[in-house]
Amino acid sequence: MTEEFKSGFVALIGRPNVGKSTLLNYLVGQKVAIMSPQPQTTRNKISGVYTDDHEQIVFIDTPGIHKPKNKLDDFMDKSSYSALDEVDVVLFMVEPEKAGKGDHYIADLLKKIKKPVFLVINKIDTIHPDKLLEIIDSYKELGDFTEIVPISASQGNNVDELIKTITKYLPVGPQFYDADQITDRPEYFIVAELIREQVLRLTHEEVPHATAVVVDRMRDHENGKLQIEATIYVERDGQKGIVIGKRGSMLKQIGIAARKEIENLLGEKVNLRLWVKVQKNWRSDPAFLKSIGYNA
Ligand code: GDP
Ligand code: MG
Repeated sequence: MTEEFKSGFVALIGRPNVGKSTLLNYLVGQKVAIMSPQPQTTRNKISGVYTDDHEQIVFIDTPGIHKPKNKLDDFMDKSSYSALDEVDVVLFMVEPEKAGKGDHYIADLLKKIKKPVFLVINKIDTIHPDKLLEIIDSYKELGDFTEIVPISASQGNNVDELIKTITKYLPVGPQFYDADQITDRPEYFIVAELIREQVLRLTHEEVPHATAVVVDRMRDHENGKLQIEATIYVERDGQKGIVIGKRGSMLKQIGIAARKEIENLLGEKVNLRLWVKVQKNWRSDPAFLKSIGYNA
């Protein structure tokens, strides 16, 4: 008997910082979603495509669910919920500790969903194995989970088992994407995210949340290098000063680190030019949000 090919969609849901983007990147073997210890790093839905001989799974990484504070937050929440209608399996990812308020909030939302919901306990590399049962028990009161799978997304522990378990719930279906395609996001979007990731890594306090990055040009080659121009938007003059740094030192550092990541992603040499602009209160400006691609 020949086994039939399966395919489907899986949403990743969970509090900010539980490791959703890390799992996505591990699964596709490359960086498509930026990661950082700062909460709310992921702003759009980003999908990663996992393909092997038996199945293709499109994983949708969602921004963390939390109480909306402004229009950007509101957009992030909407894109989290809308992901849930499109999928075959929902992965509810949590920290290896007792359920917190945010987990209860999400678990309540998930009760309305008729799809299989897995509880994925991530970062098990950080706890003693004896603790695991206790943690699993503490989550049982949050809902009836179809499956409970402990993993370490950063080390890849038990991720194979997670894939196998997901596959049980996928329908027989076609291969939607080429085996070498790892994301449905356009390249310029990932490039902008890689630049934003370096701003998050190198700046502090209010600057990371006030930053948006737009790739203005990414086409021509000069001296064998792909020319990329991008603008880093911040909300205030003071933030602009921080991102530029003393005599441009911060911007230079951001540029060098981002260029390495971009060259890694694209597999070619890149000349990256960055600008910093102030766009007052852009997080509450629907037209600006739309113009940079944050539209739900
Ligand atoms: P997201 O907000 O849910 O997308 O979380 P991220 O993927 O950005 O991860 C948040 C932080 O947790 C990062 O610093 C990751 O390196 C870290 N992290 C993610 N997965 C693991 C894991 O399995 N083990 C450990 N020790 N750290 C992890
Ligand atoms: Mg993320």
